[in-house]
Amino acid sequence: MQSEFVDRLLTCVDCRSQFVFTAGEQIFFLDKQFKNDPKRCKPCKAKRAALGARAGAAGAHGAARTETRTECSECHIETTVPFKPTQGRPVLCRQCFQGKRVASGNGPAALLAAAPGYKSAAPGYEMSAAADALLQPRA
Ligand SMILES: [Zn+2]
Ligand SMILES: [Zn+2]
Repeated sequence: MQSEFVDRLLTCVDCRSQFVFTAGEQIFFLDKQFKNDPKRCKPCKAKRAALGARAGAAGAHGAARTETRTECSECHIETTVPFKPTQGRPVLCRQCFQGKRVASGNGPAALLAAAPGYKSAAPGYEMSAAADALLQPRA
């Protein structure tokens, strides 16, 4: 079985140098069900992995905080909300949200509280730094 795997010489798509796709690596690839041959030599792969790790970390960070830029239906400042606003539903900035919450339990804030992002997290409602800055009294 092993005999069908022989070291192969591949060309790196990044630096165009040739590198060896060893029989061992081919078995590994087969085992992982990777369909494609490696495209890059080890140094280039390492370089990309380093870049990817950084991009991945940023991506994961972004995914963890699904924020949608929108406009507060009350005071019309730009704000971000931790969920995808439903069409036609009011979206409030933190200031208006808290104001509404104090004022009435049945207003738009109640709708917001029922929105997925708010369910467990109304008190921990997260704002972007920019939106938070908007809430600071201006000097
Ligand atoms: Zn390379
Ligand atoms: Zn507002």
